[in-house]
Amino acid sequence: MKTEPIRSGWDRALPEPDVKDYDESYARFRWDAARRELLDPLPPCGLNLAALAVDRHAEGARAHHVAIDWIGVGGAERKLSFHDLRDETNRFANVLESLGVAAGDRVFTLLGRTPELYVSAIGALKHRSLFCPLFSAFGPEPVQQRLDLGGACVLVTSPRIYRRVVEPIRTTLPGLEHILLIGPDPAIQGTESYDRLMAASSRHFEIPRTSPEDPAIVHFTSGTTGKPKGVVHVHDAAVAHHATSRFALDLRPDDIFWCTADPGWVTGTSYGIFAPLLHGATNLVLEEEFDGERWYRTIEEHGVQVWYTSPTAIRMLMKLGPELAARFDLSSLRVVASVGEPLNPEAVVWGQQVFGIPILDNWWQTETGGIMIANLRGQEIRPGSMGRPLPGIEARIVKRREDGGLDFIHEPDVEGEIAIRTGWPSMMRAYLNQKERYAECFRDDYYLSEDLARRDRDGFFWFLGRADDMIKTAGHRIGPFEIESVLMEHPAVAEAAAIGKPHPTAGEVVKAFVVLKSGYAADEKLERELIGFGRKRLGAVSAPREVEILERLPKNRSGKIVRRILRARETGAAIGDTSTLEEAPQ
Ligand code: ATP
Ligand code: MG
Repeated sequence: MKTEPIRSGWDRALPEPDVKDYDESYARFRWDAARRELLDPLPPCGLNLAALAVDRHAEGARAHHVAIDWIGVGGAERKLSFHDLRDETNRFANVLESLGVAAGDRVFTLLGRTPELYVSAIGALKHRSLFCPLFSAFGPEPVQQRLDLGGACVLVTSPRIYRRVVEPIRTTLPGLEHILLIGPDPAIQGTESYDRLMAASSRHFEIPRTSPEDPAIVHFTSGTTGKPKGVVHVHDAAVAHHATSRFALDLRPDDIFWCTADPGWVTGTSYGIFAPLLHGATNLVLEEEFDGERWYRTIEEHGVQVWYTSPTAIRMLMKLGPELAARFDLSSLRVVASVGEPLNPEAVVWGQQVFGIPILDNWWQTETGGIMIANLRGQEIRPGSMGRPLPGIEARIVKRREDGGLDFIHEPDVEGEIAIRTGWPSMMRAYLNQKERYAECFRDDYYLSEDLARRDRDGFFWFLGRADDMIKTAGHRIGPFEIESVLMEHPAVAEAAAIGKPHPTAGEVVKAFVVLKSGYAADEKLERELIGFGRKRLGAVSAPREVEILERLPKNRSGKIVRRILRARETGAAIGDTSTLEEAPQ
């Protein structure tokens, strides 16, 4: 899509963005200074993520400021001030203590977005256990896989999820010592009552001395390319959560912040729990899953200022049309940001029309623990680009050499892998039980992302595709993102996914799968029209030779398109790990 750059200026009535001059901010930034700023004053326990996110505010001027504004399914609302949250999380730390759980033991949650999930997360960190969140819609097999890989000691879940998911696998997990069920005492054998234990625990807890390198959180990756990895993060990640959310999300203490990601995924924890609390802001939590009308109403009713969501959600809102958005007052929004998949230029422009501000795409991974490359409020936005590296992040485009070294690509617009210079605080410290795989991620002081991109002459990064998803046709390499973005411009197309389909002479040819917007009927005529549309825009090499209309695209639980399933469907090859898929492939 040929779109003009957008200068996302700022309204004089709004606070000035943190980054006013990108080059200057980038040159000036030092992680040590950011750490000092966050640790002023240093909590008695040292650098503990939970102490910084909650206790610091609970003991200061923001004690009675709302920390978590929780809206349950059906509309019930519960507000927890920093003071309340400190007491509740102290109780949970005491519960772990009373159960004999040790520092470093793994405390899992398998809960919807309920207040108990947030209390368990923060309480576990205070106790210096490892917090391991799981997405609540997983079935028994993925849960078993992860509890086993993570060596779970404690699991907090609900009686309903327990019966459906945990009971069938209980005997396979001898190391799982405690299962805490929330709600009134469920009296299920082999479980304990979370509510009862909490009620019996003190609201006073002294956080033991914590060092920045103490493990804090294990996150499982989305499983888009294969079996999920267990990524270990440390307490020092707090420094990155704090700094990156100020730069990329423009987050401020008086903001109402809403992150739509579930804490089962890294976005839902780094930004859905910790970043807003570290700033002393109000973290709005909506328990319910996607509902366009409900979402817009939530922004209007709660006056959300900073909204962090995903391309999938944005595409779903686009599918519902601008008329729905127009029925709501969304003028409180100062920042709308997106992560998880490439954001099509079409969507950035749509954001400008519907919210009056462009959607700020940013890039990072479970392994990076925090935002690395981003479009910033107040800076030029190039629709379709992921933006530029945040201050403190040295991102390069590289090629791996056979001899184990790296070649740095200096020329603009040349494809290569995104590599980040090691040393930022939220960098992963291990893959659980996969030492070698972890070691393979690093070369010459750089972390290698397995994502391909190009950098233009002004330093903006353009995502091309995951290394595994690149299409090799007649001697050319094509990223699926470019093809998908073009198809998205057709009025009938709501979503698109492109893959390389094996071909006897070309190696591969491009095949695209599309989902239609409501009101369009699938037929061969439309498929032919889309092939013609692609050819006109993309030229003969990149244009899809085949277009197939599907009811839905295969996605994983975190909402990402899983192209390897589409490839397997075409070739009959093995599908691989399906534990994170939304539903079994047809
Ligand atoms: P797995 O590693 O198990 O295959 P995953 O890589 O999808 O799963 P995550 O860590 O949740 O797991 O996702 C990170 C990936 O998401 C990135 O490597 C990238 O491919 C994609 N991604 C994230 N943000 C963006 C973005 N703004 N533009 C393009 N791709 C993005
Ligand atoms: Mg990955």
